Amino acid sequence: MSSSSPEASRRRALLQALPSIDELLSEARVAALGERVSRAVLLEACRKAVAEVRGEILSGAEVSFTVERVEQQLARLAQPNLRRVLNATGVVLHTNLGRAPLSARAIERVREVASGYCNLELDLDEGERGSRFAHVVDLLCSLTGAEDAIVVNNCAAATVLTLGALAQGREVIVSRGELVEIGGGFRVPDVMRQSGCTLVEVGTTNRTRVGDYEAALGASTGLLLKVHRSNFAVVGFTEEATTSQLVALGRARGVPVFEDLGSGALEPLHGDGLTSEPTVRTVVAAGADVVAFSGDKLLGGPQAGILVGREEAISKLARHPLQRALRVDKLTVAALEATLEAYRDGTADAELPARAMLLEPPTALERKAGVLAAALGREQVRHRVVATTSRVGGGSMPLAQPPSYAVAVEGAAAQRLHDELRAGSPPIVARICDDELWLDVRCLTEADCLVVASRVAHAVRGTPC
Ligand SMILES: *Cc1c(COP(=O)(O)O)cnc(C)c1O
Repeated sequence: MSSSSPEASRRRALLQALPSIDELLSEARVAALGERVSRAVLLEACRKAVAEVRGEILSGAEVSFTVERVEQQLARLAQPNLRRVLNATGVVLHTNLGRAPLSARAIERVREVASGYCNLELDLDEGERGSRFAHVVDLLCSLTGAEDAIVVNNCAAATVLTLGALAQGREVIVSRGELVEIGGGFRVPDVMRQSGCTLVEVGTTNRTRVGDYEAALGASTGLLLKVHRSNFAVVGFTEEATTSQLVALGRARGVPVFEDLGSGALEPLHGDGLTSEPTVRTVVAAGADVVAFSGDKLLGGPQAGILVGREEAISKLARHPLQRALRVDKLTVAALEATLEAYRDGTADAELPARAMLLEPPTALERKAGVLAAALGREQVRHRVVATTSRVGGGSMPLAQPPSYAVAVEGAAAQRLHDELRAGSPPIVARICDDELWLDVRCLTEADCLVVASRVAHAVRGTPC
């Protein structure tokens, strides 16, 4: 029997030696910790500490309980779960790291609106109930050339709402080259089914012509859908129908055209190594009835799904019951309005962090890598500056390779170092390249670089910060 083996009896002895929670609480060192925190927090830390050690013993470790475990749990409980992370990956719109950081103006507006009451749904001129979208409609229309706009939670929600409101119970025609999956398992065919639409695929993976849509268009067609290939590229022998061609076909047959633009740039981004993206304005000008795009991708604002287009179509979306379930909150409206103001004021490239980081010239990045390298040098950490390329991320500009600089940490086990940097405070996320840890400086400020250098030095030396 395994329970009589020497390992099993050692394990049993270790488990039996674990203190009970009451014993722990009555220990002087633990009681002293209780002077800084509430009893409930201390209790939770004790429970977690004992459970942690029990788990380690059960998985075979020969460890015994120490009061430091309670201190560690208290330190962990003192930190929020969701917190600031330093991004040394070079991926600007990193979905796991929260995509676009907000501008100072957007943060200030959120603070102002969240600190008290606001006119979210109150028309201050008329003293009557207003629309929460009204605050951004004029800006969105003037920045995109659209007649009307509404905003929902994210671009995925925008797609669901549009399909549901314009094509429920009807057929939606889409190119086989655009049946995409967006990160997180959001697949066009699944969304279509969820929205009660029938998917009609036309063309082939690499070539679809407007004639393919025309041949499939019939009495039950509710919508012509075009999905921007934002997170992948098709190269070689390719062909696709343009928005204008679909609009001409749709107009002739009385069927609306919906374009899911995804990353949707409000203005072109002319930076080193960036590729060109259709702007929302060009798609609106081509006549699409509805255009959907994200607020936190290339736009550089809060998470949101923005829908712009012709008044008739947008008003159908606004009246649909799903709109109420997908609507944005006041914090999003506040941040979005302030973000859009940067475009209106012509200051978007400097003011919006995501755009500024994407446009940062290689000379500036090299200088910043020099700051990080010098700080590591002062700490006697072996390193070298390397030329690399960053990524746009967030499923945008998949082929773009903006040139950047990183600092490679030499002579340290990359995975262990990375684990330690990620677990510490502030957490640092970087890149592992050929078994070395690479710190891309694109998404770090100079002040961040100094923090990173100190954290790396401590992790390499194995000393606590
Ligand atoms: C990113 C993307 C979406 C999803 O946008 P979210 O704002 O993340 O919901 C939908 N469609 C396309 C084409 C995208 O690129």
